[in-house]
Amino acid sequence: MDVKIYEYDAVVVGAGLAGLAAAKELTEAGKRTAVITKLHPLRSHSGAAQGGINAALGKDDSTELHEFDTVKGSDYLADQDCVELMCTKAPETIRWAERMGAVFSRDKEGDIAIRPFGGQSQPRACYAKDRTGLTLLQTIYEQAHRAGIEVFDEWYCADLIYKDGKVSGVSAYNIRTSEPAIFNAKVTMFATGGHARAYRFNSNAHANTGDSLSIVARHGLPLEDMEFVQFHPSGLGGSGVLISEAARGEGGRLFNSEGERFMSKYAPNAMELASRDVVSRAIMQEVRDGKGVGKDGQSVNIDLTHLDPQIILTKLPELRELAIAFQGQDMLKEPIHISATAHYSMGGIPTNINCQVRKSPTELVEGFYAAGECSCVSVHGANRLGANSVLEALLFGRHAGENMVKALNEGIELRPASVSDADAMLAEMEKLRTSNGMESVPKLRVELQNGMTKNAGVFRTKESLEEQLALIDDLLKRFNHIRIDDKSKTFNTDLQEAIELGHMLEFSKFIVVGALMREESRGGHFREDFPTRNDEKFLKHTYAYMDKDYNITTEWGDVVLGKFEPKERSY
Ligand SMILES: Cc1cc2nc3c(=O)[nH]c(=O)nc-3n(C[C@H](O)[C@H](O)[C@H](O)COP(=O)(O)OP(=O)(O)OC[C@H]3O[C@@H](n4cnc5c(N)ncnc54)[C@H](O)[C@@H]3O)c2cc1C
Repeated sequence: MDVKIYEYDAVVVGAGLAGLAAAKELTEAGKRTAVITKLHPLRSHSGAAQGGINAALGKDDSTELHEFDTVKGSDYLADQDCVELMCTKAPETIRWAERMGAVFSRDKEGDIAIRPFGGQSQPRACYAKDRTGLTLLQTIYEQAHRAGIEVFDEWYCADLIYKDGKVSGVSAYNIRTSEPAIFNAKVTMFATGGHARAYRFNSNAHANTGDSLSIVARHGLPLEDMEFVQFHPSGLGGSGVLISEAARGEGGRLFNSEGERFMSKYAPNAMELASRDVVSRAIMQEVRDGKGVGKDGQSVNIDLTHLDPQIILTKLPELRELAIAFQGQDMLKEPIHISATAHYSMGGIPTNINCQVRKSPTELVEGFYAAGECSCVSVHGANRLGANSVLEALLFGRHAGENMVKALNEGIELRPASVSDADAMLAEMEKLRTSNGMESVPKLRVELQNGMTKNAGVFRTKESLEEQLALIDDLLKRFNHIRIDDKSKTFNTDLQEAIELGHMLEFSKFIVVGALMREESRGGHFREDFPTRNDEKFLKHTYAYMDKDYNITTEWGDVVLGKFEPKERSY
């Protein structure tokens, strides 16, 4: 098949909140923008966000308090200049979304309603019932369309065009036909979302396979802080499907099999509303102590039966339906079983405060931007607060869009592409499509996911991580001997899943290597053999690089400190 070359001012990969917010800014400024997405935009995982989006709108709240909670929640690893930008711009971002048409839930006075969320000293999560992400995604999609974005949906981006320190677009193929194309652009942005599908027990959509991380890493560019994966305290017991923190925000209480409200042992002040890392560890500790509930004893109970049923029916209707559908448990009548589920990726593609991608802790890549969950501008550090990431995606997506417009206005030459820029992608597709070995892609994927949950999950040790590293190395070798039975070029999802598995194996290795190197416990990363935080040695960002043989080397990057001095966290 011929390789078609498209030319644009900007190409944005990903059509969740971050990608669409950027594309809207670019298009409104008159820049020709292509949005490439492997899903229809409205199926992006942003649409699954339930609980809320933070902004200091309450009368006793302030943007400085929001900053403090975010930095404390991050276990002091967040870059404080980026946190300040996010928290001060949050109220305006909510109004921007509202003016575009997002219908937020209201309080009795008719103002935008806010509810408490974990790790926050004031109620601050604005919401649209428990469908906040979907409401925002639909709104921004409409408005981006109105501005005239060009969407290439069901196109899979498989490579970056990166030469001489500069990015000039991507190569991608049409999932429907396997038709390859080059999207040649003056500026390129990745907004491809999270990667918790690397874990067996997770809350993420099937598409959250972290493609862009491995695409970037294959070019020798770094990934930052990959060891920090967030485990959310309330995944439905059997499936990991999310029961939003809103359930605890509205008053849900946690109990073990002995009927003990166990959070009083772990976070006597904040109780169920301590930050997610703290509550997840508490749940898993109860399970380890034999005080779990459910068929396999791997869950605890969340009880909402003491609440006014109207709260559940009007503020948490989706959550109730999810628990009935997946578990046959009605939260109006009985406690439901939950357990810690892999949920969010704090690490990712490193960027500066303007969302421009870094080549090292101190150098930038020309023409290349990233925002949203795939990026690490580092507002979440070692642990993200609930309702801060929809905010990050929307706010930094828009910010990236504005910065790309600025860069384009200052004048960037289009470096012309040639069809050979698609060679690496075409070679990968052909090798996988025609592979005739004995290994099965789903089987390798399950082995990876089981291992990640067991060895690089809520609790980690040197031994468990080394076991996982050996497993990944073995899986990488076996991946060379997979078999794909569907040899066609039409909607070849077997091929796509194989490409995605390749990506998952590679970035998972970054998670494990980072976790091994970081001999301390901080935020979402808990080493049983090093159970305390060690600021002297590890108040640093991890930068990791991969070579062609999947060897990973690391270096440290500085954390941007500011007005909040690192202190011990207590809840
Ligand atoms: C169940 C759930 C509930 C959540 N609830 C909340 C909440 O209440 N509050 C909060 O703050 N956060 C919440 N989060 C987190 C938050 O929703 C996400 O971090 C955020 O929406 C990510 O937005 P994004 O734009 O970065 O990525 P996404 O919305 O995930 O979009 C990624 C896009 O990239 C595209 N893409 C990926 N790979 C490729 C490829 N190779 N080629 C082409 N396209 C590609 C996809 O098609 C998609 O359009 C929740 C997350 C989950 C999973």
